[in-house]
Amino acid sequence: MRVVVLGAGISGLFTALLLRERGDDVVVVSADATEATTSHLAAAIWFPTSAGPADKVAAWGSTTYDVLADEAARGVPGVVMRESLVVYRDEPGPQPWADAVGEVRSARPDELPAGYSHGLRFAVPLVEMPTYLPRLRQRYLDTGGHHLVRRVAALTDLLDLSPDVIVNCAGLAAGQLVGDSTTYPIRGQIVRVRNPGLTLSVRDEHHPAGRAYIHPRTDDCILGGTLDQGSWDTTVDDATTASIVARCTDLVPALADAEVIEALVGLRPGRPEVRLERDEQLVDGVPVVHNYGHGGSGITLGWGCAQDVLTLV
Ligand SMILES: Cc1cc2nc3c(=O)[nH]c(=O)nc-3n(C[C@H](O)[C@H](O)[C@H](O)COP(=O)(O)OP(=O)(O)OC[C@H]3O[C@@H](n4cnc5c(N)ncnc54)[C@H](O)[C@@H]3O)c2cc1C
Repeated sequence: MRVVVLGAGISGLFTALLLRERGDDVVVVSADATEATTSHLAAAIWFPTSAGPADKVAAWGSTTYDVLADEAARGVPGVVMRESLVVYRDEPGPQPWADAVGEVRSARPDELPAGYSHGLRFAVPLVEMPTYLPRLRQRYLDTGGHHLVRRVAALTDLLDLSPDVIVNCAGLAAGQLVGDSTTYPIRGQIVRVRNPGLTLSVRDEHHPAGRAYIHPRTDDCILGGTLDQGSWDTTVDDATTASIVARCTDLVPALADAEVIEALVGLRPGRPEVRLERDEQLVDGVPVVHNYGHGGSGITLGWGCAQDVLTLV
């Protein structure tokens, strides 16, 4: 079959790779290079955030965890297993993501930052997207796939490519392209600092000053971050940058003197639930499979969603 995949972020590239590997004729179309996607900017740690529905997120997340963990074990560039600590001020209770992660243990008191009474320790895949995403695209091209850089105003603009099926992986833009008014941006501001030698990822979802997370990468650390639902503002707010650095330093004092490299803003593709379904009505004579609306979890769910797309295609 000839499949046109709209989008070259994590959703489009995982989907396109799997379609090529089973022998379909695939063209990826994207408005921009992969470096300009939300996917490229993401902190990209495995952790379900702002995505639904819960049962499918658990299944997609579990599949993706296993694939990325296997890639980390095989030394695929850009993927590592990251020791993690989530901290709480009260007893956390069961966590919906824990089943996918395998071994989760209570943190010892000496592992907790000052002011916290509870914590959970586990390991999850962390993907360094500036390394991983271009290689994923190359892996797809090496299988014989094609990539056209072209902005479309509607899915019908893809009909000149003679698709048997169109797969809609256009992220936040997907809703506007297909008249889906349930999509919305979830603005995320993050800060990149020089890594002062950290190897543990630390997260407090309920810090009084806002969500706080520290994800160490090879050369830098991603400090976050905001989840501003409904905001289309892509400009960096300096007060927010200062607040993110301050609350992350509360959790990890070693960040106090870390050099700030830059602050970044991205818009997550929000939707009450990920849209992963077949649509026969949208484009005359050509079925569309939607795969968008992954919120703060596109990397966490990406491989599992792509496998379901394959079945629908
Ligand atoms: C600050 C921040 C931190 C994040 N951290 C994490 C994290 O730790 N873990 C996690 O799992 N997720 C995280 N996310 C969320 C994750 O980045 C997204 O869920 C994911 O990138 C969505 O991928 P996508 O491929 O669906 O969309 P995108 O990456 O946005 O790609 C969309 C593609 O569609 C194309 N496109 C759009 N419109 C058109 C058009 N009109 N014509 C042609 N092409 C078009 C674009 O060019 C692009 O190629 C984070 C996001 C942000 C902003």
